[in-house]
Amino acid sequence: MPIYEYVCTDCDSKFEKIRPVSCATEPAPCPTCQKDAERVLSRFSCFTTDDSGMMAPVGGDACSSCSASSCDSCNM
Ligand SMILES: [Zn+2]
Repeated sequence: MPIYEYVCTDCDSKFEKIRPVSCATEPAPCPTCQKDAERVLSRFSCFTTDDSGMMAPVGGDACSSCSASSCDSCNM
C-alpha cells in the first residue's frame, strides 16, 4: 500500500499514513489533536530542471535539491 502524507491545518503537524488507494482521498485524523488533516502530495511536489530547461518531476523518492527522502524542507 502507498504511503500518504498529511498536514494538519489545525496544529501544522505532519504525519504519514499507509493506506489503501481506495481510502487515499479520505481525511486522516491528526495524531496530535485528532482533527482531520489534509493529504499532501509530497512525492510529486519536487521538480528539477533538465538540460533543455524543462521542469520535470524528480524520479524516485529523493529530492534532488536537498537529498532528503522527502522535499518538505527545501520549499521547492
Ligand atoms: Zn493537528
